[in-house]
Amino acid sequence: MRAAVFDSTRNTVPGAWLSIEDLPTPEPAPAQVLLKVLACGVCRTDLHIVERDLPPIQPRIIPGHQIVGEIIAGPTTALPLGTRVGVSWMGGVDGDCWFCRHNMENLCDHPVFTGYSVNGGYAEFTAVRADFANPLPAGLDPLHAAPLLCAGIIGFRSLRIAGVERGERVGLYGFGSSASLAIRVLHAWDCEVYVVTRGEAHRKAAEALGAKWVGDEDARPPLPLDRAITFAPSGKVVVDALAALRKGGVVAINAIHLDQMPAFDYDRLLWGERQLRSVTNMTRQDARDFLTLARDHNFRPTAVSFPLEDANRALEAVKDETADGSAVIVP
Ligand SMILES: [Zn+2]
Ligand SMILES: [Zn+2]
Repeated sequence: MRAAVFDSTRNTVPGAWLSIEDLPTPEPAPAQVLLKVLACGVCRTDLHIVERDLPPIQPRIIPGHQIVGEIIAGPTTALPLGTRVGVSWMGGVDGDCWFCRHNMENLCDHPVFTGYSVNGGYAEFTAVRADFANPLPAGLDPLHAAPLLCAGIIGFRSLRIAGVERGERVGLYGFGSSASLAIRVLHAWDCEVYVVTRGEAHRKAAEALGAKWVGDEDARPPLPLDRAITFAPSGKVVVDALAALRKGGVVAINAIHLDQMPAFDYDRLLWGERQLRSVTNMTRQDARDFLTLARDHNFRPTAVSFPLEDANRALEAVKDETADGSAVIVP
């Protein structure tokens, strides 16, 4: 099969992180299914992997954790041959650590990460754990379903962590792919959405998607927010979001990494039972619930397809934010 491989033992230059190679098609291990990859979204985390912001776990890895595939071997009763599934960043858990036993598999002590600790979807075929292959609701096509599988699910989980209720006033700080899907969920829940973001293009996108109010990075929403989600890897943005909350409100931080959390005034910003929460990974239930919502409300993120041979170009488009929508590899 053809695959795009990141070899962390070699020095790579920007734009040539991956080599396109011929590799043996994987054999599905017990409890795995073999997928023919129909589409695989390109996420900023993939860039963090090939640029070594995330330390390499494997010497060689096929990235990609927003996989839409069709089962061609290793079928189960729940997943017969030909089933279309979506696979995301959480590729497996141990199932028996304290967190797994307490319904918090997103916090598992021994997680498997698709496209990071095990091979992912920048390839013609990939073998994945059957119990982490989520059947895709009919009506989602591969190109437009792929971007839902990371940015979409994690954005959805952020709204859950923030405790968003129907009809509330919610702030989104930053407006990339995750926020542009979260706003669709919020509208499905009849919420008013206030967007604070850097960059004219992101502000225009927020307006086009029906935000009630849009401001630049130094602006404060005109009314106190019930909840806020921050997407930028910036502690200053988290403090700005806190400052916009009503008493009892929640800020959920959707970022793997924050530059630094500035000191802030507890009496003014956190007192009054305001809460600050981080968002870590996702559960299979989050994935299923979000995909059903996406199907019911016909979410179609803008997507730009790249052939597998151009995997480096797809990563570059994410790095430079030049793609007009989510970059998706279609092998
Ligand atoms: Zn566990
Ligand atoms: Zn991702």
